[in-house]
Amino acid sequence: MFISKQTHVFALDRKNKPAATTDLPARLTFETIDCFSEQVRSEKDTLDFDRVNPATGPVYFNGVNPGDVIGVHISDIRVKSPGVMLAAPDFGVLGDKVDQSRLKLLPIENHEVIFNDRVRLPVAPMIGVIGVAPEKEAVNCGTPGDHGGNMDTTLIKPGATVYFPVQVQGGLLAMGDLHAAMGDGEIMVSGVEVSGQVDVTVTRAYGLDITMPLVKTDEVFSFIASDEDVYQAIEKATAAMAAFLTQKAGLSLSEGGMLMSAAGDVEISQVVDPEKTARFSMPLAILRKLGVDTAF
Ligand code: CA
Ligand code: ZN
Repeated sequence: MFISKQTHVFALDRKNKPAATTDLPARLTFETIDCFSEQVRSEKDTLDFDRVNPATGPVYFNGVNPGDVIGVHISDIRVKSPGVMLAAPDFGVLGDKVDQSRLKLLPIENHEVIFNDRVRLPVAPMIGVIGVAPEKEAVNCGTPGDHGGNMDTTLIKPGATVYFPVQVQGGLLAMGDLHAAMGDGEIMVSGVEVSGQVDVTVTRAYGLDITMPLVKTDEVFSFIASDEDVYQAIEKATAAMAAFLTQKAGLSLSEGGMLMSAAGDVEISQVVDPEKTARFSMPLAILRKLGVDTAF
């Protein structure tokens, strides 16, 4: 099923009208516009910030209810040239040092982003905004939370599966804000912003009791938490992993915590959105040694 970029939303909201309705499992292709709603055609353009962070969808899944968990496996992300980046006063970590807004167009050729005449970056596609509808008030697509949203997490890439705790009937999955490349932190507020298409398979996940998004890649298993304060986000993600290890691997908190301290990583997703996003990642190889089943 193809979900066109024409049907997009600027907030994840239980009241959004579904762009499509389907049974699970579902194979879907989401066509997405970039985080600037394709407003930027030249580096001289000006931006209307009321039209940023669109997410294509949402998709309603029959028979999916609050308390269920869905897994969204990303099989492919195709990005369109060119990418766009932004530097602007008061935006991001360096914002107080930026005196003038500037847009940059970055051609993409042969799987490389042409940053300038000296630097080309390998295309490393990822999804910035992906989530289900939150239980209560609408959350604009620029803000992350326990429902997902603007998590800007580099692990959300082809080959990964993202698990979401469903909060409303039908789930209402939407996604957008593709990046052709982004560094952890996303310090200037943008990655290499692109339009494109994402192929996913959505399934119902069993045996997972989560209150925040969880991503599984070929290498790691990572809880993703967001909070206004990045340290609180770190604490939430770390506590989620500790609870998972005590439950699934039968480790005491101190034993699980020491293993996390020895072999797990606190990682930063982004520090520039209204809520900051951090994650705690454990190598899948270690979970397997503990006998934890990581297929859901
Ligand atoms: Ca983003
Ligand atoms: Zn973005």
